[in-house]
Amino acid sequence: MAQAKKALTRQTRSQNTKQTQTYKNYIGGEWVPSRSGDWIENRNPADTRDVIGRFPASSEADVDAAVAAAAAAFDAWRLTPAPRRAEILFRAGEILMRDKDKYTRDMTREMGKVLKEAGGDVQEAIDCTYYAAGEGRRLHGFTTPAEMPDKFAMCVRQPVGLCGLITPWNFPMAIPSWKLMPALVCGNTVVIKPAEDTPLSTHNLIKACEEAGVPPGVVNLVTGYGETVGARISSHPSLRLISFTGSTETGRTVAYACAERNAICSLEMGGKNAIIIMDDADVDNAVEGAVWGAFGTSGQRCTASSRLIVHKKVYKKFSSKLIERAKQLRVGNGADSAVDVGPVINRDAVEKIMRYMDIGENEDGATLACGGKQLTKGDYVHGYFIEPTVFTDVTPDMRIAQEEIFGPVTSVIPTKSLDEAIEIANGVRYGLSAAIYTQDVNRAFHAMNETYTGIFYINSATIGAEVHLPFGGTKGTGNGHREAGTQVLDIFSEWKSIYVDYSGKLQRAQIDNKKAIG
Ligand code: ADP
Repeated sequence: MAQAKKALTRQTRSQNTKQTQTYKNYIGGEWVPSRSGDWIENRNPADTRDVIGRFPASSEADVDAAVAAAAAAFDAWRLTPAPRRAEILFRAGEILMRDKDKYTRDMTREMGKVLKEAGGDVQEAIDCTYYAAGEGRRLHGFTTPAEMPDKFAMCVRQPVGLCGLITPWNFPMAIPSWKLMPALVCGNTVVIKPAEDTPLSTHNLIKACEEAGVPPGVVNLVTGYGETVGARISSHPSLRLISFTGSTETGRTVAYACAERNAICSLEMGGKNAIIIMDDADVDNAVEGAVWGAFGTSGQRCTASSRLIVHKKVYKKFSSKLIERAKQLRVGNGADSAVDVGPVINRDAVEKIMRYMDIGENEDGATLACGGKQLTKGDYVHGYFIEPTVFTDVTPDMRIAQEEIFGPVTSVIPTKSLDEAIEIANGVRYGLSAAIYTQDVNRAFHAMNETYTGIFYINSATIGAEVHLPFGGTKGTGNGHREAGTQVLDIFSEWKSIYVDYSGKLQRAQIDNKKAIG
């Protein structure tokens, strides 16, 4: 969805913007307008009459200025002891905590997810910031015996250098924090570009960093379109590492740009995640999990439970309870605490999801059991609302069971056995998350072992990752990296192996070994 924007137009300086709050880029410790003079309007997807603000539609020159600032700040930051860097991050965590309510409301307004979930997103950023701060006193390397006498061997982490971070709109504070905080604690300097639909939440995150005392140039924020700002970041010769989360198509473009100059590239992309529901499952609990996994964040999570593979013995019972629950969900403005499912992000998203409704019903031949419609009347008239949708009688090869829809749509697929269910779960191009509902420990462990995904849940939906465990997927989901956990440090630091020879003579590895045997 590289072209997707809820911004209606590209504005110029000449347009009347009296009432609209204007935001700026953050480069070298200064809040500065774009050199382009162009803007992107940030509008509320629940009510597009509500203009949140205008953000710079930056140019390549802005990216270049941000990279120059990151380069100028790098030496001082990498030489700042990691525990000192961490103290600054810890302060940023406290600021995020202090302003959580405001950031939560801002996020619901610009992204649409319901307040509870927006609060969860901000909380994830807080957790991630504290967690990264804790790493300042670890960042462990290791020592290991050398193969010769009077020789010492060890390994330390060093910063990678200048990093470019490109983030999506669905977790507009959590995902930037997943990348930014570990990058900083490792001693890197950063240029970050949020998605064009949700720049405010990243703006808030960077404000917290500024207030916490992150030195000028260490973090630089450049807002704008993917094809200009994102493309320049991806291909900038001074950016040694690009960390990207978004669509598979854009991720591939970013990877090509990195390959050109051998830059490190960490990609986190799509998912088509399955919950397996066995005949011994607690069906009510499984239904609650499926509702949460499929319709939370209006299904706009890379870990969304978009496939429900259900044993034939409980298929009818599960499906009818699921449909009943889906029909009960209240769709509306996420700022209303009675609402369960907020809008989707923009018009392009509506069009894409509605295309899949059509494909599911008319091309695939699945049964549209509930939902399937865009809501356009009354309170819905100015927003992007879609009914929670359940397709039943879905077969594994159908497009709705193979392709990422990224909306409030889930497919129920009948199965006759656990092994068949696992085969179906694995039979997609992605490998992010999977889950099983069963009371049988043998089945649970078998499925856990045989499901080729980066994340697995037992008796819980496919969503709900915690920041101290690695996050990422196999196959088309990524390129082998993991964010979060201590594993993220392997993205944002490089290993240096160090040998100390205190024998006072030449000792040649592999040649002068005195073998213990033989
Ligand atoms: P989605 O909108 O489906 O989440 P995208 O991959 O389009 O996924 O967007 C994720 C991020 O990638 C956004 O910040 C977007 O602006 C950026 N982006 C889009 N196109 C490009 C591109 N050609 N090069 C680099 N970044 C891009």
